[in-house]
Amino acid sequence: MNKVKAYAVASATSPFASTTIARRDPIEHDVEIEILFCGICHSDLHQARNEWKDVMPTVYPCVPGHEIVGRVTKVGPAVTKFKVGDLAAVGCMVDSDGTCPECKAGMEQFCPNIALTYNFPDKHLGGVTYGGYSDSIVVRESFVLRVPANLDLAGAAPLLCAGITTYSPLRHWGVTKGKKVGVVGLGGLGHMGVKFAHALGAHVVVFTTSPGKKEDALRLGADEVVISKDANEMAKHAGSFDFILDAVAASHDINAYINMLARDGNITMVGAPDQPLPVSVFPLIMRRRSFSGSCIGGIAETQEMLDFCSHHNIVSDVEVIPIQKVNEAYERLLKSDVKYRFSIDMASLKSK
Ligand code: NAP
Ligand code: ZN
Repeated sequence: MNKVKAYAVASATSPFASTTIARRDPIEHDVEIEILFCGICHSDLHQARNEWKDVMPTVYPCVPGHEIVGRVTKVGPAVTKFKVGDLAAVGCMVDSDGTCPECKAGMEQFCPNIALTYNFPDKHLGGVTYGGYSDSIVVRESFVLRVPANLDLAGAAPLLCAGITTYSPLRHWGVTKGKKVGVVGLGGLGHMGVKFAHALGAHVVVFTTSPGKKEDALRLGADEVVISKDANEMAKHAGSFDFILDAVAASHDINAYINMLARDGNITMVGAPDQPLPVSVFPLIMRRRSFSGSCIGGIAETQEMLDFCSHHNIVSDVEVIPIQKVNEAYERLLKSDVKYRFSIDMASLKSK
């Protein structure tokens, strides 16, 4: 067992502070990774502050972080896919049973015995798993991803959650050339949704509450931008979308977007507000529209997404920060003030 440096919160109301945590020595199929960059996902904030207490209560101390890229420093004797010195990445999952129908279908994210990267029972060391706001992590090789060499590492880290969470539903719902696609909320997930939908050839419309993000949305690949508070602009798009991806982290009027779908259109929630969203049924019934959700993506699909990013030269637009600025970053995330993902340079953890 090794003691490594990390940043943790001690309670739902505590700020992050420096601490040490235990990591296991790599066994059989394990890969030990020195963490170089870790993205800050809004899910980290939801969990650090116990906002999801009804579905996954937070165990403290909590070390978040599931957008991890780094370099392999040690491998177990049975590891075949990685060697010391390789780049490697870890997302939201670190284990699953590998035998259930979900795992067999390549959708480990739905495995009943999944182990998430943090705030989840740790079957090796007891207690809970600790995430990427730390010096290193030890993960079974089947949950470690290859990082294409042409990707900037700070910008690649957010692909491990924001990337796969938006890529997966766009692919599942058949987004391609000729489709009209909406993306609601231009944050970490939303801006990746725009890049992917654009790369897939769709006509992309961004819905934002922030007028100041309009130019960025167009630069990121949007064909049109709608300020969602403007009822006239909203009305122009009624009944016209094939697919809408909703990446909003807070309560908002979902019915306004359902009404924008064409016949058989789908709106998928990837945003995970802690409160229920009231849904009017008639707009669904009248045009056979559907309302659904999506959760990250499987390991094979995550690798496919990374390779797609390599091919299309896609990374996240990041603001690189030292770990010492994480408390400030969380406050800015709450104000939708990040362009468009914070990526922590983990070398900063060594400096203190
Ligand atoms: P984020 O960077 O904070 O982006 C959320 C965006 O939503 C904001 O930038 C803002 O965009 C918009 N927004 C915020 N408050 C709003 C409000 N009150 N009304 C309308 N729009 C609002 O967050 P993120 O990291 O992208 O995560 C988004 C959500 O996805 C979180 O709930 C997170 O937990 C969830 N998530 C889900 C999965 C999954 O597997 N399903 C995976 C990762 C994250 P504008 O300024 O453009 O309006
Ligand atoms: Zn995430």
